[in-house]
Amino acid sequence: MRFVSFKEAGTAEPRLGFIVGDRVVDLAAGIQATAGMEDGVACPADMTGFIEAAASLIPAARVLAALAGRDDLRDAVSRPLAETELLAPIPRPRKNVFCVGRNYAAHAAEGARAQGREVVVPSIPEFFTKPPTAVTGPESTVPLDPAVTEKFDYEVELGVVIGATGKNIPRERAMEHVFGFTIVNDFSARDLQRSHGQWFKGKALDRSCALGPWIVHKDDLPNFADLRITLRVNGETRQDSRTSNMVHDVPAIIESLSRGLTLEPGDIIATGTPEGVGYAMDPPRFLRSGDVVEAEIERIGVLRNRIG
Ligand code: MN
Repeated sequence: MRFVSFKEAGTAEPRLGFIVGDRVVDLAAGIQATAGMEDGVACPADMTGFIEAAASLIPAARVLAALAGRDDLRDAVSRPLAETELLAPIPRPRKNVFCVGRNYAAHAAEGARAQGREVVVPSIPEFFTKPPTAVTGPESTVPLDPAVTEKFDYEVELGVVIGATGKNIPRERAMEHVFGFTIVNDFSARDLQRSHGQWFKGKALDRSCALGPWIVHKDDLPNFADLRITLRVNGETRQDSRTSNMVHDVPAIIESLSRGLTLEPGDIIATGTPEGVGYAMDPPRFLRSGDVVEAEIERIGVLRNRIG
């Protein structure tokens, strides 16, 4: 199932739902319309609440998905996708988005080449974060202020959404702590990333963490470890790899990150980007105002943003 946070045209309140065909099923309306069929199920306030209560809500959502196409229910419980605005599936995470650096060998190599350094592929995962204020949704405009950065770049990544609290999680049990997967575009100001001594500032600009367009539940993505992952700028393919090329796979990342650090429902981990970023091209090609950036992962979807 593909879970979304969305707004109906002309309204301010974010709502929770999931995609069926070309429609968005509204979870709150659906639970109300089918009350009595799923006794005791209340709609949570936000996606993190949904993820926390997933054990009871996913079965209810599956029942609702089966009913949503019925003539007498369809208009009460769903809207055409075209009439809604999708938000980041978790519009305002409770904490920073965790990110893994240099997690594809070919990307580590191109970065080293571009900086005239020796190629180093990290032997343990390299972590940094992006703040909640950086999160933005699909189809949104990502601001580019030339007074702030002249070297703005893209990074398509597989995003892991944590479903269950855990600490010191062994890799064999890592998937028990995952709710699902999304796409992350880790927009990066390369000049700030270098000049401020560590990566945080260059990775933390407002709306520089695009998420979406939805979260695919892990049961619907058993082959997450071998998916094609691509990125296009104005239709031109810049990145094209597979998630099987990660240096540290998803269970290894969760094992390493959770050592002495509690992971909680709704936490997001961006698992690193493959080769093909703009700063490592010769000559470098940075993003410009008006560019359209499409980050795509097979079986998840396309996350599209315009550079403002
Ligand atoms: Mn990244």
